[in-house]
Amino acid sequence: MTTLWTFLQRLVAVTLLLGCAAVIAETEASRQLKLRNSEFEKDIIKVSDSVYVAVGYAVSPVSMIVGEDGLVIIDTGIDTVSGAQIRQDFRKISDKPVSAVVITHGHPDHLGGLAAFVDSDDVQVWVRERFQDESNTLRDAGINRQRKRGAMQAGFLLKPEQRINNGIAKPYWPNRGGAVFESAHAAKPTHFATGDRTRVSVAGVELELVAADGETSDALYIWYPEERVIFSGDNFYKSWPNLYPIRGSAYRDVRKWAMAIGAMLGEQPEVLVGGHTRPIVGADEVVETLTHYRDAIQFVFDKTVEGINGGLTPNQLVEYVQLPQKYAQLDYLRPYYGNPEWAIRSIFNGYLGWFDGNATNLFPLSDAEEAARIADMAGGVQALHERADKALVSGDYQWVLSLSDYILALEPESAQARIRKADAMTALAESQLTATARNYYLSSAKELRSQASQ
Ligand SMILES: [Zn+2]
Repeated sequence: MTTLWTFLQRLVAVTLLLGCAAVIAETEASRQLKLRNSEFEKDIIKVSDSVYVAVGYAVSPVSMIVGEDGLVIIDTGIDTVSGAQIRQDFRKISDKPVSAVVITHGHPDHLGGLAAFVDSDDVQVWVRERFQDESNTLRDAGINRQRKRGAMQAGFLLKPEQRINNGIAKPYWPNRGGAVFESAHAAKPTHFATGDRTRVSVAGVELELVAADGETSDALYIWYPEERVIFSGDNFYKSWPNLYPIRGSAYRDVRKWAMAIGAMLGEQPEVLVGGHTRPIVGADEVVETLTHYRDAIQFVFDKTVEGINGGLTPNQLVEYVQLPQKYAQLDYLRPYYGNPEWAIRSIFNGYLGWFDGNATNLFPLSDAEEAARIADMAGGVQALHERADKALVSGDYQWVLSLSDYILALEPESAQARIRKADAMTALAESQLTATARNYYLSSAKELRSQASQ
């Protein structure tokens, strides 16, 4: 009987899931994300007399400056496979040797390909002091959960057909997860930029490496004054910036991030090579883009601070702070990758920590204690199941997740609750423009379905 009942439950779940699947192709969010893929087409773009940018090979651009007697490479991509392809294609443009590599920040998607560009021991490898501060801090503390969450956010665990893109890069998964983060520690810098601005002269190319805290505290932007090209690293790409990554991180200083954009503006660049998307060429467009980008970040920061000082909690802040339409309508500020709501919560947490200020939350009930009381009010756990079924059918997906958590706090092994929760997450994923959220929902749903079938 139990087996038959479980079978029937799954049949209903599968039918619902197929119902969701039928909607998949129709959602505006997935259509928009698919349109986005044109940003990641493979190309080498000449942006000034001597600067070439390889885009779409893997997940982040690799740039080449052709100097008098050598090349300067800015960032190296995520892995040596794509790195070697780019190196080969760059050779068709110039066969000069690589004299220096400059890394904008210590994230693996920008330095995993380093070995493909270091042709000899003479190659200078420039990074900023405090290089890889973020990952070193986590490693020293013995914290590694960000790897799993990072793989979920990037969609590494999903089937290829489930991934559209990750918002600022095409779907790409070297080593499918953890190993990507390991390989980055093999990078051996030879030169360090210190202080606010370091002038570097190599292969006849004069560069300025400028400290630019933002996504990371080891971030710098590279200014090439002769051709007025700026390489922003991940403090700029065409998307609402990832001011908080759902993989988890220490506070990303939103205020400094806006200041870093302002500093780049101050250089008066004519070409902007972002951390992930295609370069922007033309002084007017570069200035307008950076101005809006900085102002939108600053607006969210200022409004959040205003709300915090008015006593609002994070849940209230995300309703209080609304990005003005003049910014929200700009394609390069749409939440393809980061999301303003997460930034608002992160600013609160970054300055005031986890306690939201409401005394209710000083010592809350445990999940199971609260769930027992909710179930009691609803008329028992079975009533919660029924409410959750109804909510799923009516498309009230976030409420399904809440009810599912109550049920699973009381019935941790319930396959029915897991599958229902997975169905709701799948539906939420399909209506989600923020690719990291989409990937995280789908990865969580996959995990729940796998647990339910055990
Ligand atoms: Zn990146």
